[in-house]
Amino acid sequence: MRVLVAGSGAVGASTAWNLARRGVETVLVERRDDLCAGASRRAFGGVRQQFDDDAEIALARASLDFFTSLPDGLFAPVGYLYLATDAATETRLRERHEKQRRLGVACVWLDREGVSKAAPGIRVDDVHGGLFGPEDGLADPEAVTRLMIRRFVDAGGRVVVGTSIEDVASPGDAIVVACGSETPEVLERLSARGFLARDASPPIRPLVRSLAETGPVAADPRLPLVIEAFDGFHFRARGDALRLAMADTPPRWADSCDPAPAPPDGFGRIPLERLRSRFPAAKATTIVRRWAGLYDVTPDARPIIDRVANDVWIAAGFSGHGFMTSPAVGAHLADWVADGARPPVFTGFAADRWNGDPPNAWPTLL
Ligand SMILES: Cc1cc2nc3c(=O)[nH]c(=O)nc-3n(C[C@H](O)[C@H](O)[C@H](O)COP(=O)(O)OP(=O)(O)OC[C@H]3O[C@@H](n4cnc5c(N)ncnc54)[C@H](O)[C@@H]3O)c2cc1C
Repeated sequence: MRVLVAGSGAVGASTAWNLARRGVETVLVERRDDLCAGASRRAFGGVRQQFDDDAEIALARASLDFFTSLPDGLFAPVGYLYLATDAATETRLRERHEKQRRLGVACVWLDREGVSKAAPGIRVDDVHGGLFGPEDGLADPEAVTRLMIRRFVDAGGRVVVGTSIEDVASPGDAIVVACGSETPEVLERLSARGFLARDASPPIRPLVRSLAETGPVAADPRLPLVIEAFDGFHFRARGDALRLAMADTPPRWADSCDPAPAPPDGFGRIPLERLRSRFPAAKATTIVRRWAGLYDVTPDARPIIDRVANDVWIAAGFSGHGFMTSPAVGAHLADWVADGARPPVFTGFAADRWNGDPPNAWPTLL
């Protein structure tokens, strides 16, 4: 059997690498001229275990060994800190804490003083408390993806760039479509060429997400990824800068990666004041770099990982958090392709879970 994995983002790279390690003849096919050209190159780099969905928690926990064994500099276990600054958010986070603990996720509830210690330099006078994941952290998504591709090649895999999967696949090939936000169109083209008996185009919509980086800011190297949980504004240190993100309001469903127009000292519609207020050391800084990428969003914000024809699998729709679970997703998906049995952890990620009738409301994702 020859397996073609379409898409050289984190999900495709991990799947291809895991197939090659099992001795399966595998080709990683990337339609652009450069590898890791999609969302995986643009991601924020957060790696957490806290999720609402049990299967995603299992995948995130199973991915942790991979991240903690990365070479120096590729993963920093600085933690994730969700801040509650109002009573309703505190209640929501405390409920979440209970659920995460029941499911074995390492996280602790911190009072204001604990928050101040866990995140040196942040302003805490309005903070009710915070939910802290000490094993979570930050990774470099592009560098990690490229490392997985190097390991894939070392294990005997072949890489083809500048070619679309639908132009190289032959009858009899097994195909894994890991094309992020472009997955629906790729499935349509594969259907048109007879690789699928029916139209299996999955409900995935591209949502623009803008990021920004500041100029130099003196931050403690222990600063975790800090999230203001009421609206999702978050920031982290990267080198001597801070990287910021927040959902656009209103959400921008689009197929372009352009960041929203921004005032010189802001990004998107987010005033830099939000950062300066939470992290006073950033008072004098400005935005020096802005970019955007596309989330591949499903109606329930959970991925679609399924076999949609005898020889065709989809792994897409990761809704803004596919990098952190990609090590375990790739390992389980390689098992499925090689052995033919659906891993139980993927049961809830079926492509037909909406019975052909996706809800009208799409999540806009904080
Ligand atoms: C701004 C932003 C911030 C994010 N932050 C985080 C974060 O902090 N943590 C986290 O876990 N996740 C984050 N994500 C999500 C994460 O980046 C993705 O879920 C993850 O990288 C998995 O990507 P992927 O491999 O599925 O797709 P992608 O990385 O998008 O890769 C898909 C690849 O398929 C290729 N392709 C398309 N069509 C074809 C074709 N016909 N043939 C062959 N190849 C094709 C594309 O060129 C592309 O290279 C973020 C995403 C964005 C946009």
